[in-house]
Amino acid sequence: MEVTLLGTGDTTGTPTPGCSCDTCERARERGVERTRYSIHVRNERTDEALLVDASPDFRHQFLERDVDLPDAAVISHIHFDHLDGLGNAYRLFSDLPVYAADETDPETGKSVAETVRNDYDYLDAVTVSAESPFEPFETCGFEVTLVPVDHPPLVCYGLVVEDPETGAKLSLSGDTSYGIPDESREALADPDLLLADGIVPAHLCEHHPYGGKHEDDDGVPRTFGTKHMTIEGARSLGEQLDADETRIVHLSHFIPADEAFDEELAVDGERYDL
Ligand SMILES: [Zn+2]
Ligand SMILES: [Zn+2]
Ligand SMILES: [Zn+2]
Repeated sequence: MEVTLLGTGDTTGTPTPGCSCDTCERARERGVERTRYSIHVRNERTDEALLVDASPDFRHQFLERDVDLPDAAVISHIHFDHLDGLGNAYRLFSDLPVYAADETDPETGKSVAETVRNDYDYLDAVTVSAESPFEPFETCGFEVTLVPVDHPPLVCYGLVVEDPETGAKLSLSGDTSYGIPDESREALADPDLLLADGIVPAHLCEHHPYGGKHEDDDGVPRTFGTKHMTIEGARSLGEQLDADETRIVHLSHFIPADEAFDEELAVDGERYDL
């Protein structure tokens, strides 16, 4: 399993257009980017690739990185930064199976699968498969499982991608607070690689209208506001799940410049062989 981090940023990315903060300037100087979230998972055995989330930066990512176009995609939730790249399927694909959860979201009255199906109804290439959480499905030679996480007000899903032949396991937290249900934690546990949402360091919680929550034993918030983990929360999730390696993703430009490029924080283009 070859995992390429195509997009490791939050919804505005780093650098953010029109922003001259120190973090965005530092990113420009270093020539690194954190574009909107997307992960490319290649199966070397079958020579197929699965795309996890369709970034609005899809075109840029596939021009920039040495990866093949995917054979299938999974959509974790319906926020712009994870879904809106699917329009790129037009003329690039004759058939792109797209997997998403089948549970009705009380917020929208539709499942993620139904929203994707409605929004991309005009694209013949997009074929949506509705999948039930905790029930593994097969695609690209992988066994893939959606697991509910906590990203209010919308439903959102983490993901487990396993190769049944090699035993390689990739876990993705999805966009989530630290309040991931126990049953989902069990499914995500013990991966070779965990990609964990950590949007900002905990010390920025004081600037969020809802502050932080899910404090650790030292009182450090592991959730920023209600929707995302802090960097400390993402690190803590990796320890709790006993991940062999944790990369922190979905990072924002609000991380102070002297912390924003720390070793544990991912940048676009990183590649891992599991
Ligand atoms: Zn900035
Ligand atoms: Zn989101
Ligand atoms: Zn997001």
